[in-house]
Amino acid sequence: MPSDKSNSIKIYNSLTGKKEPFKTITKGYVGMYVCGPTVYSNVHLGNLRTFISFDTIYRYLNHIGMKIRYVRNITDVGHMVEDSTEDRISEKARVEKIAPMEVVQKYTNDFHDTLKKFNLIPPSIEPTAQGHLIEQIELIKNMMDKKLAYEKNGSVYFDVMEYNKSNEYGILSRRNVEDLIHNTRKLDGQSDKKNPQDFALWKKAEPQHIMKWQSPWSLGFPGWHLECTAMSSKYLGEQFDIHGGGMDLKFPHHECEIAQANACFNTSPANYWMHANMLTLNGSKMSKSTGNSILPNEIISGDNKMLSKEFSPSVIRFFMMQAHYRSILDLSNDALLASEKGYHKLMDAVENLENLDTSSKTDFDVKGWVNNCYDAMNDDFNTPILIAKIFDVVKFINLVKAEKAEINKNDLKQVKTKLNEFVFDVLGLDKIKSNTSDDKIKSVVEILIELRDKARNDKDFELSDKIRDDLKNAGIILNDNNGKTDFTIN
Ligand code: AMP
Ligand code: ZN
Repeated sequence: MPSDKSNSIKIYNSLTGKKEPFKTITKGYVGMYVCGPTVYSNVHLGNLRTFISFDTIYRYLNHIGMKIRYVRNITDVGHMVEDSTEDRISEKARVEKIAPMEVVQKYTNDFHDTLKKFNLIPPSIEPTAQGHLIEQIELIKNMMDKKLAYEKNGSVYFDVMEYNKSNEYGILSRRNVEDLIHNTRKLDGQSDKKNPQDFALWKKAEPQHIMKWQSPWSLGFPGWHLECTAMSSKYLGEQFDIHGGGMDLKFPHHECEIAQANACFNTSPANYWMHANMLTLNGSKMSKSTGNSILPNEIISGDNKMLSKEFSPSVIRFFMMQAHYRSILDLSNDALLASEKGYHKLMDAVENLENLDTSSKTDFDVKGWVNNCYDAMNDDFNTPILIAKIFDVVKFINLVKAEKAEINKNDLKQVKTKLNEFVFDVLGLDKIKSNTSDDKIKSVVEILIELRDKARNDKDFELSDKIRDDLKNAGIILNDNNGKTDFTIN
């Protein structure tokens, strides 16, 4: 049963440019589609920001008891290299001299591993574009039957001008077709199009192209925009509640999805379009294709010249949650250091809460505080306001700990429950684990010390010295003292 909190959610709808009450198609149920990654390189922190934003939305809708089917695809074909006729995955396969499916597997694995580190909940369904070629071909036939798509030399294009006679191409990005046509350059290999704004639904493959499939029109491959229409309609229906992605997908990708759905099903696909804003690095958009990007692993290990130290995934997640998903967020070392401080303060309060003494009264409006937290999230998932509210209670907890304020047993229970729910279930933060990997290293070194002792007892000095020297090379110094060995980590 959804709680009454689900009645007061407002969502900023990019389609209308307004914050609107969230009314789902079926009460209590939500269908949400988010464009997933193109798996041709490691996921960068900018991508991660978008996925974390939608993960938090998913978490919150779950938290308030809605039944949500969350579909996030994997783009493993069709996303072209800018200004070229080559598919990004094919290009990578050529450069790395491996098969396209190896590229797909390698970067899908990286994507999943990274999302796990950052505590994202897997979507309900994660379909791939290659797994839905039949559905894509069917949609093309549908659009050709309606004369909204045309074939030329084995490729099929969406006819924007024809569509625009009874629909509005540009409705989402608020662009005007005439201006678009005027401003679009003619690219090589696009001369088959009736006008430059038409987009490919199916591309005939060049002979050297590796990723190609049989279709009624040619041996070729599908266009990028089409996959999302095929997969969203298959798993969520022709019309569903939320469609999300990064702001840079608004045009042309989402604009084309709207056109395709209108052409195929006579309906705009999603009622609410949500766009997460960009993560910037030194003021410019983080992007895989321009190289201005930082990898999640570099930030976790601190192995990047713009960072003074490593940061845990939870600190990075907390840093992202401190900005609203629709605001641009700039990444810098100082901002991460500040977030780390805040995150530790929060975790200390969560821990202190376990050992607070109670009394007969409470000097804090717990009920009002809980409502404020829900109000923040109901207002277009405003995580920075939620965090500000959370810090109201952190301040109070610290006062109680310092015996400058009081809390009764029931209120303590309520604060504990709600704080844990908001911090861990909704924001998706992890309890501090900074010592965990150290603890693991310590246990491993203890085992090696035992093995070294055994080797020494067995007079196998070659092995015992090797253990000591190899550990030293790894920065771990063994100190022998009165028959006992301890160690220091450099
Ligand atoms: P891609 O793998 O390039 O298709 O991107 C996957 C998702 O990440 C899309 O929703 C993009 O809009 C989003 N994205 C790409 N770059 C950034 C960025 N710098 N900040 C936030 N989101 C981004
Ligand atoms: Zn998409």
